[in-house]
Amino acid sequence: MKHQRSVIAAIAALLFTLTAHAWDYERHRLINDLALTTLSKDFPAFVRLPANRERILFLSGEPDRWRNNRDRALRHLNSLDHYFDLEYLDPYQLKPADLSHFRYRYVEQMANARAHLKLELPEANPDHTKGHPGFLPWAINENYLKLVSAFSYLKVFEKMGTEEEKNNARANVIYRMGILSHYVGDAAQPLHTTKHFNGWVGDNPKDYTTSRRFHSWIDGGFFKATQSPDRAALAGALRPAKLIVRPLARDLASGHFQLALNFILAQHQKMEPLYQLDKEKGLSPETPTAGKIFLETQLKTGTQYLGDLWQTAWAEAPPDRFLQTYLAKRQLQKEEK
Ligand SMILES: [Zn+2]
Repeated sequence: MKHQRSVIAAIAALLFTLTAHAWDYERHRLINDLALTTLSKDFPAFVRLPANRERILFLSGEPDRWRNNRDRALRHLNSLDHYFDLEYLDPYQLKPADLSHFRYRYVEQMANARAHLKLELPEANPDHTKGHPGFLPWAINENYLKLVSAFSYLKVFEKMGTEEEKNNARANVIYRMGILSHYVGDAAQPLHTTKHFNGWVGDNPKDYTTSRRFHSWIDGGFFKATQSPDRAALAGALRPAKLIVRPLARDLASGHFQLALNFILAQHQKMEPLYQLDKEKGLSPETPTAGKIFLETQLKTGTQYLGDLWQTAWAEAPPDRFLQTYLAKRQLQKEEK
């Protein structure tokens, strides 16, 4: 029994260093829990039913569960959606302002740069993710748009659908809110915006930590070693969700891509201060005050952005016209029978 326990502990320690997730499940749940409290009174009430609320909290961990599957095709598809390591744009001579919000156009931009600059791909790259900056701003924008779509058909089914259709549409809204939430949470973890995602790499003139446990320490290790964030205190410090006003888009298809990218750029600015804080022992369990403030600020930042995105998706979702016409025809056909 004792032997079995030590084997389990050894495996757990190994996995901890191998996988760099973002906030652990508890922190992702907390962000969702808090973001739900910021929604306006007129936000669809079914979202707050205990079973739905719990499902949104559960789904905060879903894209990380996909990462636990070792199949390379799934790792290739999913892993890159969780981060955007800005420094990896440099070899491609790409700047954030140049990036196409169309995911596959961005891939073409990278492929063109690779051919033009004769860039070599990293060796030992079994799932073809190494050296790739990642897709996090695309993942936020695309999952946001899928949530808008879910609200668009919900609005029509609520007026013209059967009970089954209403229930299915509501279930999909819950699912879509949950999946979007994960990527927004990841974006609030500064180590998801950098090649220094798990200890400093390369030139290190300021002598920052190179520990391969740094990422998991920020994800949750720090809170486990000190104390969990005070939910009530955090909830009390939040403002109500507000509608996000989009800046003039580069073109009409860009959705919230630019804002997601701006959010990530802002979190990237906090990456080096986080390393500095560690150097000054601010993330040590013996002197945790500054670390607690820093990390709770990040949790709050992610929470507010998530609440705003949920609120805005609901507000700006147009009724699904195609579905409206289809349901109107169905109604007519029924009446003719
Ligand atoms: Zn993640």
